[in-house]
Amino acid sequence: MRLAKYLAESGISSRRQAERLITQGKVKVNDKTITELAFTLKPGDRVEFAGKIIEQTDKIYLLLHKPAGYISSLADPQGRPRVIDLLSAVNTRVFPVGRLDYDTEGLLLLSNDGEFSNLMTHPRYLIPKKYEAWVQGLVKPDTIRQLEQGVALEDGITAPARVRLLSSKKGQSLLELEIHEGKKRQIKRMCLAVGHRVTKLKRTALAFLTLEGVPRGQFRFLTASEVESLI
Ligand code: URA
Repeated sequence: MRLAKYLAESGISSRRQAERLITQGKVKVNDKTITELAFTLKPGDRVEFAGKIIEQTDKIYLLLHKPAGYISSLADPQGRPRVIDLLSAVNTRVFPVGRLDYDTEGLLLLSNDGEFSNLMTHPRYLIPKKYEAWVQGLVKPDTIRQLEQGVALEDGITAPARVRLLSSKKGQSLLELEIHEGKKRQIKRMCLAVGHRVTKLKRTALAFLTLEGVPRGQFRFLTASEVESLI
């Protein structure tokens, strides 16, 4: 097995990050630093990263109901609460599959399976994600059509989306948006591009997965058949 795949499957990082760790000379095999990405492990090889022998672990997949006020990254220079702080009951090291902003609530997957993470976040895979967004102002039908057809962001025009107005009160509107891309801060930027600032955002679904039965701040393991259906 290739060294990067081994690291990703051991839950150290995603495959891409593992490749970076290797080229940066941070990984040793049998006490020797390895920097070639093509390096293939033989049975019994001893892999070491950051002073620790890396064993392969079982793969786990979690669905977390992330509260607002937690960061998705594993480390935060500002010391804010991290989503992995909500997983103290889980002994295996996992990392978020994709991201939600600090102030966004909702469905976040975490895993120690780097290959799964790559598949789920690769633009080619077009996994539908549903959001509920409270936005400032009353959203007109024309604006909904614009959001559905695609809006120009600095990194390109957004792909067709499904958008519904769920309710409006006190000068705010609640939209449901289903997108298939994962551009950075996509929902907030799409809404702002059509003149509506997002004041509250929640991811309610990812593919066929929802937050049903998972209270805010809690998680559940995905079943084997859920994982299979996703990939
Ligand atoms: N879009 C955003 O703007 N933020 C998120 O956290 C997720 C999608």
